[in-house]
Amino acid sequence: MISLQNQIILITGASSGIGTACAKIFAGAGAKLILAARRLERLQQLTEELKKEFETEVYLLQLDVRDRAAVESAISNLPTAWSEIDILINNAGLSRGLDKLHEGSFQDWEEMIDTNIKGLLYLTRYVVPGMVKRDRGHVVNVGSIAGHQAYPGGNVYCGTKAAVRLISEGLKQDLLGTSVRVTSVDPGMVETEFSDVRFHGDTERAKKVYQGVTPLTPDDVADVILFCTTRSPHVNINEVILMPVDQA
Ligand code: NDP
Repeated sequence: MISLQNQIILITGASSGIGTACAKIFAGAGAKLILAARRLERLQQLTEELKKEFETEVYLLQLDVRDRAAVESAISNLPTAWSEIDILINNAGLSRGLDKLHEGSFQDWEEMIDTNIKGLLYLTRYVVPGMVKRDRGHVVNVGSIAGHQAYPGGNVYCGTKAAVRLISEGLKQDLLGTSVRVTSVDPGMVETEFSDVRFHGDTERAKKVYQGVTPLTPDDVADVILFCTTRSPHVNINEVILMPVDQA
């Protein structure tokens, strides 16, 4: 197991769910955190908690990952002390609706594609060159079981997560010959704000998603990400699928 003490970890989507859980577990491991999301107040509140509990050093980025120019500016303007990112966790993502493809909303499709695929690509494109230069680093992409199996109404979301898997595989191939590692972490159902976002705040409908299943917790996923990023430097865990026991 390698130490994460003073390693710089950039987590997108840190304002909620899996991203927040990652922030806490990596803070507990002694890492320095760059936390990114659009909701700055959430990030500020989390920072206070992390500073109090772990004395974590935190740098905040209020960032919409869909905005390529903003991503470029955020990464290129990081203060020197924060510029050498050791681990990038591409976690920001969402699903919208559960509509049949032929009845789907163009706006929902664009939001999913722009966030889940293009946002992840932008962060990767701007962060990985530094990793290659230093010959050190790890990119963790949060995919989904939805990238392995489609379900009714999942169409575009499943497509975006299938893309994340293949992008991870492609990046791994591109980085052969360097020490930079790439992992896709693909969970089944996790209880977060994901379902509320999917149904545009319809909490009743969101709750029904978990009926009959004991979902994963965000901590379960963060724990796996911590495991993947602390293996010996010659070990690359390419992909992990983690599922609730009672989810098919
Ligand atoms: P949450 O809704 O709890 O968190 C999503 C995070 O993504 C928030 O922090 C949100 O921050 C951020 N985000 C969304 N859009 C943007 C954007 N345009 N720019 C920057 N940040 C953005 O959901 P989860 O924690 O569950 O989701 C995290 C990841 O896990 C996603 O990629 C999701 O697809 C994946 N996943 C989730 C599963 C589940 O069942 N929950 C199952 C499998 C995978 P803000 O709104 O402040 O910008």
